[in-house]
Amino acid sequence: MSPREKEETATSGSSTSHLSTAECPSHNGSVPECDEERRINEEDGRGREGDEKEQEEDERSSDEGFMGMTPLLQAHHAMERMEEFVHKVWEGRWRVIPHDVLPDWLKDNDFLLHGHRPPMPSFRACFKSIFRIHTETGNIWTHLLGCLFFLCLGLMYMFRPNMSFVAPVQEKVVIGMFFLGAILCLSFSWLFHTVYCHSEGVSRVFSKLDYSGIAFLIMGSFVPWLYYSFYCSPQPCFIYLIVVCILGLAAITVSQCDFFATPQYRGVRAGVFVGLGLSGVVPTLHFVISEGLIKATTIGQMGWLLLMATLYITGACLYAARIPERFFPGKCDIWFHSHQLFHILVVAGAFVHFHGVSNLQEFRYTAGAGCAEDGTL
Ligand SMILES: [Zn+2]
Repeated sequence: MSPREKEETATSGSSTSHLSTAECPSHNGSVPECDEERRINEEDGRGREGDEKEQEEDERSSDEGFMGMTPLLQAHHAMERMEEFVHKVWEGRWRVIPHDVLPDWLKDNDFLLHGHRPPMPSFRACFKSIFRIHTETGNIWTHLLGCLFFLCLGLMYMFRPNMSFVAPVQEKVVIGMFFLGAILCLSFSWLFHTVYCHSEGVSRVFSKLDYSGIAFLIMGSFVPWLYYSFYCSPQPCFIYLIVVCILGLAAITVSQCDFFATPQYRGVRAGVFVGLGLSGVVPTLHFVISEGLIKATTIGQMGWLLLMATLYITGACLYAARIPERFFPGKCDIWFHSHQLFHILVVAGAFVHFHGVSNLQEFRYTAGAGCAEDGTL
C-alpha cells in the first residue's frame, strides 16, 4: 500500500481518528492534517474511550503513512542511520575520530588530538579493535603482553621443584600472591582499555576494576617482600601486612566513587597509589635500622626495591602530568603518550620487584630455615 493509499485509508475511517489526536502536536491547529483529523475525531469518535487502547495497537501500523509524514519518518530515518552505524561497528568498518567530537565520557586526555575510537556499543567490535591502530592500541598491548608474561612466569614458578624451597607450600602461596596481584592488575587494565569506548556504564565499571587492580598489585607485592624480609620477626611482618591490606582496601573503596575516574582527579589517583606504595617506607626503615645499611642493600635487595619504586613513581608522575604529549600535542596520539609509558613502567617495576623477591627467596634457601638471635631475616 502506498503512503497516499494509507493516508486515505487512515482518514476515511472514524476509528483511525484516535491515533491522529494522539499524534498531533497540539490543539491550536498549527498542522492542517491534524486539524482535519481532530474534527473527524470530535464528530465520530465520541463515546469510544473504552476500547481506545486496543484499537490504537491495531491501527498504529495502518496509520503509519499518515502519521509519519514528518516526525515519524524522521525518527525512522534516525533509527535506520543508527542501525547502519551499529552494523558498521559490528563489521569493524569504523574510523578513528578526533578528540573534539568525542562524547564527554570518552574525553580523557585533550593532548591526544586524533586517533580515538568512536563509541562502539558492541563488545565484539571493542575486542576486534585490539588489532586496529588507535590511541588505546599501545595501552591494551603493553598490559596484555605483560599479563601473559607474568602468567607464564607465575606458572613456571609454581611448578618449580619443591626442593628449591625451605617451606615449599608456604613460599609458593606467598609468591603466588604477588603473581595474582600482577595478573589481576594487568588483566583488568587491558580489559578496561579494550572496552573503554563501549558505553559510559561499561567504561565506568571497568575503570573501577582497573584502579582496584593497581591496589591488588601493590598489596600482592608487599606479601612476599615482607615475608622474606621479616622471616625471623613474624610479629612486625604480620602487622605490616595487616596495615597494607587496610590501606589497599581503602584505596579500592575510594576507587568505587564515580568522581575518582574523572580527568580532574588524575593527580589524586596517582597520589593515592603512590601513597599506598610508599607505605613500604616504614618497613624498609625498620629493616635498615635492624640489619644495617650494608645488609639491607646486599641481602635485603634494597637496590632493586629502590629501582622498582623509581619506576613506579616515574610512571605515576608521567601519568599525572601527561608527559610527553603535553609538550607535543597531537604528536603522541598513537605511540609514546604518557599512559603507554606508565603502563610499560608498571610492567618493568613489577618485574624488578619479582627479581628482588626471587633473590630474597634464594637467600632464604641458602641460609636455611634457621634464624639468628636478633635479626629480621
Ligand atoms: Zn591504563
